[in-house]
Amino acid sequence: MAKIISGKEVSAFIQSKMTDEVKYLNEKGISVSLAVIIVGEDPASKVYVANKKKACEKLGIVSYEYALPENTTQQELLDLVNELNQRADVNGILCQLPLPKHLDETSVINAIDPDKDVDCFHPVNVGKVSIGNGKLLPCTPAGIMEMMKYEGISPEGKNCVVIGRSNIVGKPISSLLLNANGTVTTCHSKTKNLAEITSQADILVAAVGRPLFVTADMVKEGAVVIDVGIHRDENNKLCGDVDFASVEPKAGYITPVPGGVGPMTIAMLMCNTVTAAKIQNGVI
Ligand code: NAP
Repeated sequence: MAKIISGKEVSAFIQSKMTDEVKYLNEKGISVSLAVIIVGEDPASKVYVANKKKACEKLGIVSYEYALPENTTQQELLDLVNELNQRADVNGILCQLPLPKHLDETSVINAIDPDKDVDCFHPVNVGKVSIGNGKLLPCTPAGIMEMMKYEGISPEGKNCVVIGRSNIVGKPISSLLLNANGTVTTCHSKTKNLAEITSQADILVAAVGRPLFVTADMVKEGAVVIDVGIHRDENNKLCGDVDFASVEPKAGYITPVPGGVGPMTIAMLMCNTVTAAKIQNGVI
C-alpha cells in the first residue's frame, strides 16, 4: 500500500506560509498583486481565472482581472501587457492560455517582463531554471518538488524518470529533478522500451496526457509515483495518467487525482507572485 501524497494538504501548508509572507510584506508597506488577462469565452479558462482570483483574495494578494473580448487584436493584447509591465502596483502578470487561434501566444509570453512572469514561461526564466538559479519557478513542476520535500523525499542520487517533454511540465520537472541531483531520464512518444525504463524509476513522473497510461507493470516496487494528468473518464469521473487502482498497491508513494498535483499549481502561482513582489521591492 502506497502512502498517498495529499496535494490538498501540501497546498494548504504553502498557502498558509504565503499568507504570513504577504502580511509581513504589507507591514513593510509592500503590497502584493497579480494581474490576470483572459481573452475570449473559453469556459475552462474562466473557471481557472476565477480560482486564481479566489486564491489571491484568501492570501491577501490584490488581484486585477482583464477580461478581453474574443476579437481582441494582437496589438491590443501586447499594449495591455506593456502597460502592466510599466505599472509599479502590478507585481505578477499572467495571460491565461490557450489564447484564441488568431493570437500568437509566444509573442505575448515574450512581451511579459521576466520579473513579473509568474507562470515562468518567459525564455529568460526558462533559461534561469535550466541553469539552476531561477527565483520564479514553473508552477506545476515546482509544486511536485514541494510535495516531495513535504514528504521528506529527496531526488538526490535517485533514478528519476519523466514521461513527457512538454515545455509546461515534462522539460521543467526534468530540470528541477536534475538540479536536485537526481539522475534523470526524460521519455516521450518516440522513446523505445518505455516500460523497461519506467520500471527502473525510483521517482516516476507521468505527464503524458493519456488517461490511465501508467500501469503496475511499468512501475518499480516502492517507487514514488507522481501523476500530473487530469482527465474525465467515460463516467465523467476525474482520473490521471496513472492507473491508480493497479499502481497504488505497488508504489511507495503516490499522488491521487483529484487532490494531488492539481492543487499545487495554484499554490505555486501564489508563491511566484510573492517572489515577484520581493524581487521588485529589492527584498530578494
Ligand atoms: P502535452 O503537451 O500533451 O505533452 C505530453 C507529452 O507526453 C509529450 O511530450 C508526448 O511526447 C508524451 N507522450 C504522449 N504519448 C506518449 C507515449 N505513448 N509514450 C511516451 N510519451 C508520450 O501535455 P502536458 O501539457 O505536459 O500535460 C500532461 C498532462 O498533465 C495532461 O493530462 C494535462 O492536462 C496535465 N496537466 C496538469 C496540470 C496540473 O496542474 N495538475 C498542469 C499541466 C498539465 P512527444 O513530445 O513526443 O509528443
